[in-house]
Amino acid sequence: MSDAKLARQIHDTAVSCGFDDCGIIPIGDMDGFESHFRERTKAVPASAFFYEAVGDLAGTKKRFPWARSVVICTFWLGKYRFPASLQGRYAKSFFLSPGNRMCRDIQEGFENFQAWFAQSGIRCEGGGQFGHLSIGPLRYAAVMAGLGIIRKNNFLYTEKGSFVELVGYVIDRECELYHTHNLKPCAEKCTLCQRSCPSGALKGPNTMNPLECVSFLTTFGKGALPPGMKDGCCGTWICGCDSCQDACPYNRAHDWTDGEAYPGLEALESELSPEKLQQQPDEFLQTRVIPYTSYHVMPDEPDTLRRCAARSVRNQSCG
Ligand code: SF4
Ligand code: SF4
Repeated sequence: MSDAKLARQIHDTAVSCGFDDCGIIPIGDMDGFESHFRERTKAVPASAFFYEAVGDLAGTKKRFPWARSVVICTFWLGKYRFPASLQGRYAKSFFLSPGNRMCRDIQEGFENFQAWFAQSGIRCEGGGQFGHLSIGPLRYAAVMAGLGIIRKNNFLYTEKGSFVELVGYVIDRECELYHTHNLKPCAEKCTLCQRSCPSGALKGPNTMNPLECVSFLTTFGKGALPPGMKDGCCGTWICGCDSCQDACPYNRAHDWTDGEAYPGLEALESELSPEKLQQQPDEFLQTRVIPYTSYHVMPDEPDTLRRCAARSVRNQSCG
């Protein structure tokens, strides 16, 4: 099979398995990430610790010496509606994420995609969305494949906005499928994302301190605040933070009341108010809520949710 035919077949299979789009780049296209990574950690030295903790992001080639290409797929979260009372409290990028494995249909699609590679005699690894589970820097791969651009809030945007989950694979075949898009860069004067950041973690265009980011503080940071940070820095967020994405004009066209119901979420909505959440027993949090956090809160960390819910209650009464 020619490279072009294989690339098209991979793309079409990805789409038939539930992804929105799929690009393919030679593994060598990942080489530029290392210098990009160095510049980033130089601009915000505190972020080095964070990136080390999520794994060897710059080492895709070293980790998979047999790989020839990177297949990068997009999944748009706007396919699902998001309960209004969860907005401003729970990150859509966790609670609607294929990575939380709460949607059986999505999982089946992803499994079918990997099974197709196996049936086609193609060695393939990947499928994890973040950290050491992923094959490397997925946003970088998506940009290289022409699927989108990174905006000043650091998120990857496709034509549908930034609420897009990326799923990457490495394969042992040489093929490529580059896309073109019509996305305009951020307006030079736009600072909406920066001004909407409750903690001040987004310090400038593409300059964010992950250790001050509410998404980190309410999850891996276990709800504790570093010295000097005040309660108000987290706003009403309980788990994750979408503020810099929600404020962005390139996300405004989408109405989150539209779309399919995400499995189980609407039945849970009334139990997720911060007032109720802080009172919920361990078992409820562990079996009903933590699975939606897409592995950002672990089963033995129900106190993280309670701590953040209590702070959300305090902050909403101040706000
Ligand atoms: S996710 Fe929230 S805290 Fe983090 S940079 Fe964006 S707005 Fe700021
Ligand atoms: S809010 Fe403005 S500056 Fe920030 S990402 Fe969106 S367009 Fe760019």
